[in-house]
Formats: sequence, structure tokens, C-alpha cells
Amino acid sequence: MQTKQIKGQLPEWMWGAIDWIFPPHCLGCGLEGEIICPECYGTIKRIPANVCPYCNAYVSTSGHCPSCKNLKPSYARFRAFAFYGGVIREAVHQLKYQNDIGIARVLAGYLLKVIQAENWEFDLVVPVPLSKRKQEQRGYNQAERLARPVAEALHKPISVEGLSRIRENASQVDLDVKSRRENVRGVFEADPAIVKGKRILLIDDVFTTGATLESASRALRDAKSDLVYTVTVGRSDFNIN
Ligand SMILES: [Zn+2]
Ligand SMILES: [Zn+2]
Repeated sequence: MQTKQIKGQLPEWMWGAIDWIFPPHCLGCGLEGEIICPECYGTIKRIPANVCPYCNAYVSTSGHCPSCKNLKPSYARFRAFAFYGGVIREAVHQLKYQNDIGIARVLAGYLLKVIQAENWEFDLVVPVPLSKRKQEQRGYNQAERLARPVAEALHKPISVEGLSRIRENASQVDLDVKSRRENVRGVFEADPAIVKGKRILLIDDVFTTGATLESASRALRDAKSDLVYTVTVGRSDFNIN
């Protein structure tokens, strides 16, 4: 078992000791000391300012891209921390498959930078859920691992019951935007008793075409939530227009 997996099973107050005995190594260059060292942090491709507020595709003038104008999403805004590549891709991969809470906290810190820069006002943090079966297989939901430290830092409540994934969708690979939206339609269900009248911050790990976020947001809006802001760590370079 690796150190990070041991850490996932211990209370947080013991992590400092674990880090002292087995210091983390940078995911980008292997340097001992930090999960992402300052030099590798500097290589991260941040999302620039002139992007579509719904999908973060480049736009030449301010406003939304042609594709989001046609198919306006149900969420109010979307912002990713960075493009999905390099050390960010590696970190998200580890978050998903290695049960590494240390990485979750680092990435949650990156999400906080985005949320604070956007100045969004919201009442409730909601992670994009996995299906019950998938969560049982993996043992945890990576989006929840990101959402908990965010909620804690901003002193906001978090709900994992407010939104559920009621069925699995077929693989999204090789589908275009419209087919992806069809494929994930109706996979989520929100509980009006929890989300009604609330401004929601919806958190996920990666945005590819936005089909999953759109479907989750649609369920929250159908359950009468007030509005939904969406944020992810990575945004795929996949051209969605
Ligand atoms: Zn490094
Ligand atoms: Zn767009």
C-alpha cells in the first residue's frame, strides 16, 4: 500500500507526521517536498479571461460562443481552473484512482482561487455524484473529495443527498456534443426538499463537453434551485464548437 493510500485511512491530524516520515513527491517532476512543486505549478495552463462563460472556449469578443448561444446551458456560469493536461491531468488521475486526500486538498485550493476570483454568491455546495455502484467500486467520489474542503474553507454547507445519479450512462467517448447531451439526459435527480430556492455551487473534476454538468444542473433547476454555478479543476482542450 502506498503512503497516500495509508493517509486516506487515517485522521487528518496524523497526516503531518506521515508527510514528515514520507514526504510527498511532486507529481510533475518527482522533487521531494510538495504534491505540485512551484516550478510545475508554473507550467499549468490557466484558463484565460476571454472565454465563453458557459464552456470556457476561446471567444474573440466578450460574450458566449456560438455553440452555447444555440444550446444555452441551464447553469449560470462555468469556470475551470486550468486546461486538462500536464501535471493537472496527472493530479486528477491520481485523485480518481489513488484515493489520495492530499491531492484532493491541493486541487480544492485551486478551485478556491477560481471561486473567489469569480465572486459567486451561493448557499450550498453540491458535488457531481457517481452512481451507487460506481461509488461502491471506487470507495469514494472524487468530486466530493474536492467539494468538502471548498465548503469548509468558505463556511458553506455541502449536500451529497441533494443530487443523485439514478442511472449509469453509456461511455461518452466518440460522441459529439449533441449526442453526449442525449446520452446523459435524465441520469441525475435532485431533491427539492434540499435544493429548492438555493443558489448552488456544483463541483466536478473535469469538463469535457459540459454534457454531464448540464444534465446535473438541469436536474437541480428542475427541482427549483435558484441558480447553479459550476466549477471544475480541468477543462479538456477538446474542441466543442
Ligand atoms: Zn515539480
Ligand atoms: Zn460556450
